[in-house]
Parts: sequence; C-alpha cells; structure tokens
Amino acid sequence: MNYSQILKKGENLLKKNNIKNPYLDTELILSKVIKKEREEILLNPNNKLNNKDIIKFKNYLIRRKKKEPIAYILGHKYFWKHKFFTNKFVLIPRPDTELVIEEALKFLPDDNSKKILDIGTGSGCILLSVLKERPKCRGTAIDISIKAINVAKTNAKLHQLENKINFINIDIDKYNSNNYDLIISNPPYINSIDLNRLDDDIKFHEPKLALSGGSDGFRNIEKVIVKSKKLLKINGKLILEIGHKQKDKSIQILKKNGFYINKLSKDLSGKDRCVVSTRL
Ligand code: GLN
Repeated sequence: MNYSQILKKGENLLKKNNIKNPYLDTELILSKVIKKEREEILLNPNNKLNNKDIIKFKNYLIRRKKKEPIAYILGHKYFWKHKFFTNKFVLIPRPDTELVIEEALKFLPDDNSKKILDIGTGSGCILLSVLKERPKCRGTAIDISIKAINVAKTNAKLHQLENKINFINIDIDKYNSNNYDLIISNPPYINSIDLNRLDDDIKFHEPKLALSGGSDGFRNIEKVIVKSKKLLKINGKLILEIGHKQKDKSIQILKKNGFYINKLSKDLSGKDRCVVSTRL
C-alpha cells in the first residue's frame, strides 16, 4: 500500500465514525508512523509503506476512531510558540489559554526577575511558555496529580527550563510558601452538568481531575482565589482562566477576597475567558 492509498482508507474509516477532521488526522497519524513531515507525504504519494508501519498506522487509527484526541495519539500539542509533550494524565493545551500568557507578559518587564506560581500546572504549558519569554523570571509549578507533575517536568527538560522551576506535587490547600509576584492558573472549572455534555473526545479521554470544578464549577476557582490572597505579595497579580459564564461570580469572589479587578479578556470566539486582578 502506498501513502495515498492508505490515506484514503484512513480518511474513510474516520469519516464513517464521525471524526471531525478525518483527512488531517489521518495525515498526522501517517506522518507520525513514517517519522516524516506532512510535506513529505504530499510530495511522495506513491511511496510504499512496509508491513510494520501499516500495522502501526492501523493501531493509531483505531485509537482515533474510538475518539481518543489526536494530541494523545501523537504525544504532543503546539501551544503558544512551542511543542508540548501530552498524555492522558494532562489536559491538552488549548489556544484560549494563550490569553493567560499574553496577559502575564504585559505584567512582566523583560529585564525583571519575578517569582511566578502556576497552580494546577498540568502539562506545564502556561508557566513554561511564560518563562521562555522572560528568562530572568523563576517559577513554581504545583499540581495535585503526580502524573501531571511528571509530564510538566518532561516538558521543562524539553525546553531547557528545569533549573528555573520548582515542581511540587501538592494540593493548593496545603501549599504555604508565599511572596509571589504573579500567580497564574487555569483551574478545572467545568460544572457537573456541562461536564456531561462535553464531546466524547474530551469526556472520555481527558482527565476529569483537570476538568471538573464541582457541582457549580467554582470549587477550584474559589480555592485558587482564597489561597492566592495569602501567597501573593501586596500588589501582586492573579491571572485566572475562567469559563465563559463564570465572569460575574468570579469577580464577586475576587472582590470579597480583597482583589482589585484590572481586566477581563475574551477568547478567540469572543467569550469571557481570563480575569486579571491585583491583591490589594
Ligand atoms: N495549566 C494547564 C493548562 O492550562 C492545565 C490546566 C488544568 O488541568 N485545568 O493547560
């Protein structure tokens, strides 16, 4: 079988199973199997696959057919300017989360060494992207999941940042080291009703721990805010990702805890997604 034939087969199988981008996903899988760029496939449609590769291709394709996200099958996802290792123990980095980076960079001057805490680091994509842009800063990444911490560490090594980050496997409730200039967090904020309505790709494959914000979706948002008040320096900033229907209550919790609201920013589809606030 050659590239173009196997692509056609793969595309048809995914299409039949209602997978959203059947051609693209098939091409990405083939490119992983043959360890070549996608351009290479386009330029050499008649190249033949060996039997080993055909079997590998089929196995990956079956995983995708069962709705496993392509980022887990490929083992990586691009976010901000970099490639991050991803597996089923971490949330797949989302483009919307890049808002947190944009806002964080505005608060971090190029030549300044600030102390940053990332609560619920997951793959580490937020903190690592910020530190790549601001080499003088240092960070702490915490996560309740040891498996997530291990992924974040792998990513730190991949991007030569392991010496700038302290990784801690702990629940935010138990973490008490303070004096941070900036806290960033994309906490799990989906409420239990919405959780059930998510696409199968997400619902059955991404970690519940990284998605679920309890019955009303605010359990972790509230935890992060209450704790940030203790861990931030006076005038320190908290940059928080929230769900698009969580603006009002998030602001209310922030104000109740002595935060000043600097800004709300919207994601790529125009939905409220990120709150910037200051600990007074
Ligand atoms: N900080 C990680 C991200 O934004 C993980 C977030 C989470 O697991 N809720 O992708």
